[in-house]
Amino acid sequence: MEGLTFPNDWQTTITEFLKSGATPSDRSEAHLLRRRAGRFVLIGDQLYKKAFSGPLLKCVGPEDVDYILQEVHQGSCGGHPGDRSLARKILLVSYFWPTLQEDAARAVATCLSCQSNGQAEVAIREILRVLRARLDHEGGSWVDVLPEVLWALRTTPKEGTEATPFHLVYGGEVIVPVEVGVESDRIRVYDENNAELRHLELDLVDEVRAKATVRLMAYQQRMKQNYNRRIMPRSFQEVKTEGFCEITVERRR
Ligand SMILES: [Zn+2]
Repeated sequence: MEGLTFPNDWQTTITEFLKSGATPSDRSEAHLLRRRAGRFVLIGDQLYKKAFSGPLLKCVGPEDVDYILQEVHQGSCGGHPGDRSLARKILLVSYFWPTLQEDAARAVATCLSCQSNGQAEVAIREILRVLRARLDHEGGSWVDVLPEVLWALRTTPKEGTEATPFHLVYGGEVIVPVEVGVESDRIRVYDENNAELRHLELDLVDEVRAKATVRLMAYQQRMKQNYNRRIMPRSFQEVKTEGFCEITVERRR
């Protein structure tokens, strides 16, 4: 990766070179700077990057990065775009810094609204999947089937938390029709005066939720590892010829 990363003072180094031709004493660093500086232009004291398409991109320092990311992602004109769209939109409004893509990904990954929207999307997808299965099988109107589908999902343990959504809200499990069809112990020994027990369950529900959160985090970690195992890493190797890059692509199985 040597030569692909920009040092922290990259703006000063390039600006100084464009102004006075000053290069570092190290020969390979000086060579790299000469090549890199060709892609930049100085107007007054402001450094710009020549874009491959479109106008010049204004180079910004670390002090402006967070503001630009926040504003473009979730500010007055931000529609919470994903990391690639966020990076593209920042280029479109003509700003540049060397870790733009990486920082855009970080901004999206740490945006609370994006994370909870992601969870809502997963929940909606699950509801649609079950609705479709029910309607394909039984026909009828989705409006009539929806309450049953919601009950089905609320009383089924989720893979990530290993708990039912009903349990996480009320601290105990609801009685489902099958327990009436084939009498379960909970029906057989049902005590009409179990209000005290239910209150006790509610007192303990925070602990149940905390455990579910821990399990969910571990589950997400496992999903991430599985996903990363399937991606294709690419390594780039710089070769002597100006303007060309040799690209090695490895496939991991
Ligand atoms: Zn967001």
